[in-house]
Amino acid sequence: IEIMNKFDLLPVQNHRLGSDPHANAINGEIWKEQFDHSGPDGCWYGCSMGCAHAVPHYHLQSGPYKGQAVFVDGPEYESLGALGSNLQIFDPAAMLELCFYCDTYGIDTISVGDSIAFAFECYELGILNKERTGGLELTWGNAEAAFELLHQMARGQGFGVTVGQGVRAMKKIFVEEYDADPKYLQDIGMEVKGMEISEYISRESLAQQGGYAMASKGPQHDEAWLIFMELVHKQLPDFESKAEALHFFPIWRTWFSLHGLCKLPWNDIIPESNKTAKEPSKVPEHLENYRWLYEGVTGTPVTQEDLMLQSERVYNFQRIFNLRLGFGTREHDIPPFRLVGPASEFEYESRAERYDQQLKEIQHIDPEGKSTAEKLQLTRAYRTRQYDLLMDAVYK
Ligand code: SF4
Repeated sequence: IEIMNKFDLLPVQNHRLGSDPHANAINGEIWKEQFDHSGPDGCWYGCSMGCAHAVPHYHLQSGPYKGQAVFVDGPEYESLGALGSNLQIFDPAAMLELCFYCDTYGIDTISVGDSIAFAFECYELGILNKERTGGLELTWGNAEAAFELLHQMARGQGFGVTVGQGVRAMKKIFVEEYDADPKYLQDIGMEVKGMEISEYISRESLAQQGGYAMASKGPQHDEAWLIFMELVHKQLPDFESKAEALHFFPIWRTWFSLHGLCKLPWNDIIPESNKTAKEPSKVPEHLENYRWLYEGVTGTPVTQEDLMLQSERVYNFQRIFNLRLGFGTREHDIPPFRLVGPASEFEYESRAERYDQQLKEIQHIDPEGKSTAEKLQLTRAYRTRQYDLLMDAVYK
């Protein structure tokens, strides 16, 4: 949380902003004090990374198990981003409450968080009101309202039924029933292909925008998590390298799922040899380790290309499956504009220095004397074009 907040990458208020002065209330130090340290921190005993954690003895405040002490899995970064900063709820107890009930009800924390955040923003915009929400005040930071919505979703009652259908369905309902502006809801509804977007502000990472919006199964961070590769390690300088990453990583990451392996040891542990590797983002020494592992377990000699081919067959099948269902083509890879750039004057002005500088240095346009609306339009046109060019490179 602290790193994401520092680099303006943490979703705040339905992905509208990238940081919040209160975010430290749910940062790593807080969780270290609360985690259970009595046993191994892995999702299985043999894992030497042990990145899974849990909080014991949390006393529930709401819902069917109110008052009971429970053991809460996590909370992990994505859940904290979705259910915490994105709703401006900076209360560790509320995070545990929401995470526990999402797990217990079998509901995804990212989809719940983004859906509630969208409803909160629509409430702020006046599209929703207390009458339409069944009396709930959907204001930023209102943890009680988030609890109630989650319980309503699980029970199939009240306004939770609407929110529980997800952002794509809400956009349609709010346009049809409440006369909301479909274009603006498209800009701020954080979903692609019907799936809610994971918790990284990607406006300054074109590759991550593609990683989300071009992923076959929707904008999760599993297929192509490229944001650090592009922004921190500067490994994807042009359209070709981004397109290659958007080809290689989804296929390679699919290989782990095919073989029932966790992918974190592949690139969360960096071997010494990576310093001099030609393509460090792929962690070549570890690719070779997986080839050995495959040969050792199956007794079948393989090359790295063979492993990629195993995965590519499945990935292509997934794409054909999508095509058959009416998806899988370029028009389904268009993200909501908020993923790509500032979607409102408020967002532009909140980072005006950065966007003005980009107008000057990248587009060679003097922002002096221009209104925010004009600058917003220029920024939007440029960023939309960049995303189009990325799609050209990927689909070539
Ligand atoms: S590295 Fe993978 S297997 Fe190990 S604890 Fe983390 S998620 Fe589980």
